[in-house]
Amino acid sequence: MSHLFTLNRFFWKYRRRFFFGIFFVVLTNYFRILSPQLTGYIINSVIAALKPGSAMAPHVGNSGYNFIVRYIIDWMGGLSFHQKILATGLTLIGLALISGFFMFLMRQTIIVMSRLIEFDQKNQIFAHYQKLDNTFYKQHSTGDLMNRISEDVSRVRMYTGPAIMYFINLAAVIGFSLFFMLRSDVKLTLVSLCPLPVLAIAIYYVNTIINKKSERIQVMLSNLTTNAQESYSGIRVIKSFVQENQMFRFFKQNSETYRDNALSLAKTEAIYFPSMALLIGLSTLITIMVGSLDVVNGVPGADVGKIAEFVMYIQMLTFPVSAIGWTASMTQRAATSQRRINEFLLTDTEIKDAPGAKDIAISGKIKIENLNFTYQNTGIHAIKDLNLTILPGEKIAVVGRTGSGKSTFAKLLLRMYNADKGFIRYDDVQVDDIKLHSLRNQVSFVPQEVFLFSDTIKNNILFGKADGTDEEVFEAARQSGIYSDIINFDNGFETLVGERGVTLSGGQKQRISIARALIKKPELVIFDDCLSAVDARTEKEILGHLYQYLQDRTAIIITHRIFSLFNFDRVIVMEQGRIAEQGTHAELLKAGGLYAAMYHRQQEQQPGEDV
Ligand code: ATP
Ligand code: MG
Repeated sequence: MSHLFTLNRFFWKYRRRFFFGIFFVVLTNYFRILSPQLTGYIINSVIAALKPGSAMAPHVGNSGYNFIVRYIIDWMGGLSFHQKILATGLTLIGLALISGFFMFLMRQTIIVMSRLIEFDQKNQIFAHYQKLDNTFYKQHSTGDLMNRISEDVSRVRMYTGPAIMYFINLAAVIGFSLFFMLRSDVKLTLVSLCPLPVLAIAIYYVNTIINKKSERIQVMLSNLTTNAQESYSGIRVIKSFVQENQMFRFFKQNSETYRDNALSLAKTEAIYFPSMALLIGLSTLITIMVGSLDVVNGVPGADVGKIAEFVMYIQMLTFPVSAIGWTASMTQRAATSQRRINEFLLTDTEIKDAPGAKDIAISGKIKIENLNFTYQNTGIHAIKDLNLTILPGEKIAVVGRTGSGKSTFAKLLLRMYNADKGFIRYDDVQVDDIKLHSLRNQVSFVPQEVFLFSDTIKNNILFGKADGTDEEVFEAARQSGIYSDIINFDNGFETLVGERGVTLSGGQKQRISIARALIKKPELVIFDDCLSAVDARTEKEILGHLYQYLQDRTAIIITHRIFSLFNFDRVIVMEQGRIAEQGTHAELLKAGGLYAAMYHRQQEQQPGEDV
């Protein structure tokens, strides 16, 4: 429960709303509590008028009533009998309207407060997500991440909003009605309230069962959805491997378990509501029975109006009392969710600005010494004792077999991971001492896995430079060799990408993500195999455009294709996390090592592609 204390600072932040909320809850109930008294009074008056002077005729007094009710009764004293009934009816409607108005204000303050807290919490979580590093994202599934921001936060909202509101409401209702009930008749109060604690406990108990069951159903439903979603997106694979029946059986099995659980929940709920009604009915029944016996036996102070008054109090109490169970289990769930949120907010990232980190201007001079890196989760030693010096303006190609550590090297340059040992220095400043924002702002990185947002092509390119002009977007598109493809789409640069938009080819996506990097006009560009999906001829053409663009810039281009590397100042060949060879294309060919072997193999496989 203590995890919920973290929320206190939000309550403090919205203290005005919270305070007014409580105030309105009290007012709502204050005006509601007047109607039973007025009803009781008018019933007694009717009976007295019907049987004037009889022993059964009640004493139509007003001593135990609230002062407002007393005031109304005194005012009605001068009216005729019919006018009195009419005035009472109108007053009851008036009271209901006033109480309803305050109830509206109560929701407007407390529920709105909970929405504001929800919004703050979502922002807080989202901001924290942005700070976390790759390692965190590798260890958590997307489903998990989504859950935290939507489900956990909305569960916490059930506490900050409805649960707290019902709780204050309950306190106010119990306070007011007990006060007037006890003042009116202690014995009748005690007997009529007997079943209510049982009701509260029973509701709490059943609610917990219902929550557990519905939580299980939630999990199943999300599995089912994931399952269906994967089947749709992987439908081509399923069909081409003729696995439709297999998938169907799997899905059917899952949905049958889901159905069984949903039915079991429905059964519990079916017992829940009637039992509640039974217990509430019991209270009413006891009140009528005990109250009537008192009237019949002529107990002093007993009258029919009081029975009506008490029955109305009980009706008022039952909803808040039955909400105790609900409130308690909501609070429990919120505490669990808040614990998860707190744990998450405490996860720290290793990749952050060191104290005293600097903004530097990157010229492209990079010195790498004895660099080593091991992936924590797999223990793969991906970079081993790597030494390299890159001069400003150099164009470097990095080649090597798959898994040789090329992408890891690029990520270390951007400090997406911290090296275990060794240094990377930009202009003689160690990478750990450069502000992350400064570093990543000056380096354009095109990752190996293309990611485009479900937005227009233009906005996807502008992601690299939010304030870029149309002309800059077109230019970046030209440089990455995608311009003519884009203007051939019906909507040109406004074409939507992603599920709702056009389906782009792999090579088109890659080139858009290159354009996104180029529009930044950085000093250093790092391309991670980002032309793998275009054919050799197109690659050569794009590299031609790029060469011009890259003239004064430093470039590190990771690629699998050797034949298009002629213009590079240096080629680095990586093998098992180390630099195996380096030199110009001609030098390496002459040396007859790994590079030469790779080159000849590619030449044999794709003769004539060497354009
Ligand atoms: P490719 O040409 O296929 O892109 P690469 O040269 O870029 O290969 P890397 O991605 O750097 O290779 O991988 C180097 C090694 O590190 C591989 O053995 C790989 O399995 C491992 N590796 C890469 N990424 C991770 C990761 N996130 N967690 C654990 N191990 C990883
Ligand atoms: Mg790679």
